[in-house]
Amino acid sequence: MNFFSEIEKIIPRERIIVGESMDKYTTFKIGGRAEVIVEPANSGEICALVELFNSLGTSYLVLGNGSNILASDSGIDIPVIRIGKNMSGISLFDSTVTAQAGAALSAVANFAMENSLTGLEFAAGIPGTLGGGVIMNAGAYGGELKNVVEAVSFVGPDGKEYVASGDEMEFGYRTSALQDGGCIVTAVSLALRPGKKADIAEKMKELNRRRREKQPLEYPSAGSTFKRPAGHYAGTLIQEAGLKGYAVGGAAVSEKHTGFIINKGGATGADVLAVMDHVIKTVYDKSGVVLEPEVKIWGESK
Ligand SMILES: Cc1cc2nc3c(=O)[nH]c(=O)nc-3n(C[C@H](O)[C@H](O)[C@H](O)COP(=O)(O)OP(=O)(O)OC[C@H]3O[C@@H](n4cnc5c(N)ncnc54)[C@H](O)[C@@H]3O)c2cc1C
Repeated sequence: MNFFSEIEKIIPRERIIVGESMDKYTTFKIGGRAEVIVEPANSGEICALVELFNSLGTSYLVLGNGSNILASDSGIDIPVIRIGKNMSGISLFDSTVTAQAGAALSAVANFAMENSLTGLEFAAGIPGTLGGGVIMNAGAYGGELKNVVEAVSFVGPDGKEYVASGDEMEFGYRTSALQDGGCIVTAVSLALRPGKKADIAEKMKELNRRRREKQPLEYPSAGSTFKRPAGHYAGTLIQEAGLKGYAVGGAAVSEKHTGFIINKGGATGADVLAVMDHVIKTVYDKSGVVLEPEVKIWGESK
């Protein structure tokens, strides 16, 4: 059985990307050749892909905007299902916004603002998709997706479609029930509240201003590299361990925000992992706190 011709029976050729580098698909701008990236346009295509991969005995990875991923220098040899602009519709019913998983969080937040709905302002500057945001329970400035998710439609690892309520998603800090389980989010309903459009727009503007002021947005990164350890801030621990600016190759601890590892130019995945390893070890030696990566590491870069 020819693997690519089987995929082409499900997804038209123009939505199958063969042999391109993951650095084009991650905000870190790092990663080797992905054997195949497929871009489905609806949940039916996703079900058929999962059934195909199951029948071939191959696992797969799910990609949103790649803003929380460190991809291996040696590439990704299993299929990547990318949920992006082909699945990015947004609609409204009363105060509930329903969007496909590939919609950008910024687009969904803007849509809510345009419709005078409050509750999603915190997400306006997070550079991910709604699907990736739900998987990660993305949050900022006191808000979390957990607080507004009403229902999540997804395709399970068996290739069948399901709907989970917000409670069933078991959201926690940067985690959800669907993380790492081979599930693919296809659409999300968000329960928002009526508000004043001008206030909502002003809040979004202010939070984005704070982001630009504090975060090294001029460099490629995956945002906060580590989760916030209970009772601490990762960035403060890293700074106190004397690691501001610590670099290996093109990867460095940001001087502007020590919670970010940035790609200063030409960084490899191995460079980032070397910085991460050194940071974890040094912070542990100095403070006894174990830092856990927030970024998802795909493949092996060493
Ligand atoms: C400059 C910068 C600032 C950031 N600020 C924040 C912040 O304030 N708060 C915050 O929480 N995060 C932040 N992030 C991290 C990142 O944007 C979030 O984690 C975001 O939710 C990831 O969405 P994504 O679409 O890019 O997902 P990806 O990075 O593509 O994937 C992340 C995880 O979700 C899975 N996934 C993605 N889409 C789907 C889907 N449809 N179905 C199933 N699984 C899926 C992937 O397999 C992977 O495990 C920041 C990142 C950057 C670069």
